[in-house]
Amino acid sequence: MRCPYCGNDDTRVLESRQAQDGRAIRRRRECTRCQERFTTFETVEMAPLVVIKKSGTREPFQSDKIVRGLMRACEKRPVSLETMQAIAEDIEREARGAGLREITSTQIGEAVLRRLIDVDQVAYVRFASVYREFDDVNGFLQELRRLEGLRLEADRGT
Ligand SMILES: [Zn+2]
Repeated sequence: MRCPYCGNDDTRVLESRQAQDGRAIRRRRECTRCQERFTTFETVEMAPLVVIKKSGTREPFQSDKIVRGLMRACEKRPVSLETMQAIAEDIEREARGAGLREITSTQIGEAVLRRLIDVDQVAYVRFASVYREFDDVNGFLQELRRLEGLRLEADRGT
């Protein structure tokens, strides 16, 4: 690793530790020539996961976008940021685990809803209302009935 201060190629690792829950290695380095110190991160390079939006355009998968959507749905609800981030990470892990290179925004929305239903039902309906773009009361009532159906299935399962 070249020193960013003087361009020297030889640096010494002072310390290595896990970062980002073990998904990265953080190394503290010191230049052997100018003695400046700097930090490097080592992470696994993943094949890009691409999201196909409803309009047909593609963009790189960003878990932050899921978290932002969840934050809107969970406003004033007892749902922690940690839980929202865990949902987003879980969806990415599931998609990559299934070997997907592309995922539609519809699949992501459904994946969020499947997890949100066990977390907070108010947030679930809010997320569904944005994501499914209810344009009238009927659409909203249909979602409530669907939610009720899912609840009944869950009850039968236990
Ligand atoms: Zn240097």
